[in-house]
Amino acid sequence: MRVLLVEDDPTLARHTTQFLRQAGFAVDVAGTGAQALELEAINGYDAVVLDLGLPDMEGQAVCQRLRARGTTARVVMATARDGVDDRIAGLDLGADDYLVKPYALGELAARLRAVLRRPDPLLPVTLSVADLTLDTATRTGTRGQRSIPLTAKEFLVLEYLMRHAGEVVTRERISAHAWDDNYDPASNVIDVYIGRVRRKVDQPGEPPLLHTMRGAGYRLGSR
Ligand code: CA
Repeated sequence: MRVLLVEDDPTLARHTTQFLRQAGFAVDVAGTGAQALELEAINGYDAVVLDLGLPDMEGQAVCQRLRARGTTARVVMATARDGVDDRIAGLDLGADDYLVKPYALGELAARLRAVLRRPDPLLPVTLSVADLTLDTATRTGTRGQRSIPLTAKEFLVLEYLMRHAGEVVTRERISAHAWDDNYDPASNVIDVYIGRVRRKVDQPGEPPLLHTMRGAGYRLGSR
């Protein structure tokens, strides 16, 4: 899942980014409302974490403009403890959830996972394809009885493939979901990670689940 963190406090932004990356999200940071709007137009995000007090505009205005341009990104607002009116206004402007500052980073990660499961919050946290399962809360994979250890990046790649099981997924789609702005399209980094994920998912003697579709991309499925 790719997240835009809109936060003008550089220390908080750094800590939050570090935490969310370890929690398995791809993260870009914007320090102003204008930058947030620009990055969102270029990249598209699964979710936006939005501070309300930004140097150039109110977070609510950012949210309003994102919704006006039809973004489907989930928006989680970060508000002050006494900001009940802010929260009401934010939810009315199209925010999906809010957190009261200072918030625990673990709670932010959990709320992001929750809003990303909408429109069906009852959707399972666990994804399955054949005998492969992935718990998106603990980021652990299992194939049959075998447990699959995954790094944060490997998790992002496998999660995307599992959410789109049966579809041919291009490198561009994988990078848009799992990499942040540091991604270099000229590199072979996606293939490297696919190779790593494949070695973990498909071991000798197991029916292969991760297929390369020559010239098109990759597909996860039992055949
Ligand atoms: Ca601020």
